[in-house]
Amino acid sequence: MYLRPKTLHDAVSVLASSGGKILAGGTDFYPALGERLPQGDVVDITDIREIRGISLEAEHVRIGGLTTWTEIVRAPLPRCFDALKAAARERGSVQIQNRGTVAGNLCNASPAADGVPPLLVLEAEVELISPSGERRMPLGEFITGNRKTLRRADEILAAVLVPRHMEDAASAFLKLGARRYLVISISMVAVVLRIDKSMTVTEARVAVGSCSAAARRLVELEKDLVGHAADSQLGATVRAEQLALLSPIDDVRATADYRRDASLTLVRRALEACVGRA
Ligand SMILES: Cc1cc2nc3c(=O)[nH]c(=O)nc-3n(C[C@H](O)[C@H](O)[C@H](O)COP(=O)(O)OP(=O)(O)OC[C@H]3O[C@@H](n4cnc5c(N)ncnc54)[C@H](O)[C@@H]3O)c2cc1C
Repeated sequence: MYLRPKTLHDAVSVLASSGGKILAGGTDFYPALGERLPQGDVVDITDIREIRGISLEAEHVRIGGLTTWTEIVRAPLPRCFDALKAAARERGSVQIQNRGTVAGNLCNASPAADGVPPLLVLEAEVELISPSGERRMPLGEFITGNRKTLRRADEILAAVLVPRHMEDAASAFLKLGARRYLVISISMVAVVLRIDKSMTVTEARVAVGSCSAAARRLVELEKDLVGHAADSQLGATVRAEQLALLSPIDDVRATADYRRDASLTLVRRALEACVGRA
């Protein structure tokens, strides 16, 4: 059965009673089916206005789960969101950006999901709603592996919450694919960098996607960057060993060695881009 609830409350109960599958923009849902038809009930959540759009709260920027990538591109957001906006602009085509949602990208949990590294460096949390209530958890805990999340079958990802204390930090997102557009990432990197008046790095967050089962923060590198001069040499300070916790694979898009090498270059360039924007 095809079900199309109008409110979050109805969607939560329809999902629980039907045991159906959630459909948002459908840009991952349908390709995953291939030639097959959906099995079981489909709960189309695209009419639920409460979980669409972006709002500023005292402590967080709230991004509704149904917010599309086009809406991210168009929203006036603090500059620490530049990386997320770049990831939105670089995904798929304009048609995909118009349909694809933030929650769909996170719940599908592809290792190559471009939305994940920029949200990891923003230390985003996800808000999940079910008949038993609401729970929140850091995005880094929510995605546990290749297409694996902690979402229970009766939960709807209602919002992504980004803490506001890094709003003034510079950020950058760089993606490498086999061509410029409409391409799955070989590697992608997001950086948020806080730089003080004396041009010294005071806080650094770096995440790499497509090079492990789920995108990873490079926490050791982040610690090492603090205290460095934020100048044109910052990227050159990054060494291959600082990316050692990545575990890229060989596949049709690239070899593991190429992914490691490309990631190092992307990390260096993303740091330099942040310095240029400070
Ligand atoms: C041609 C093409 C190009 C693409 N290019 C890119 C790209 O460059 N980068 C990239 O990262 N992705 C890309 N994608 C993938 C896709 O567009 C994104 O991942 C998109 O954000 C998915 O959102 P959606 O709303 O379409 O999700 P859907 O397809 O509707 O759903 C995806 C999964 O998430 C679940 N789900 C959806 N919403 C919720 C929710 N609120 N709560 C709980 N579960 C939910 C669904 O049940 C399903 O399992 C591309 C896809 C296509 C077809």
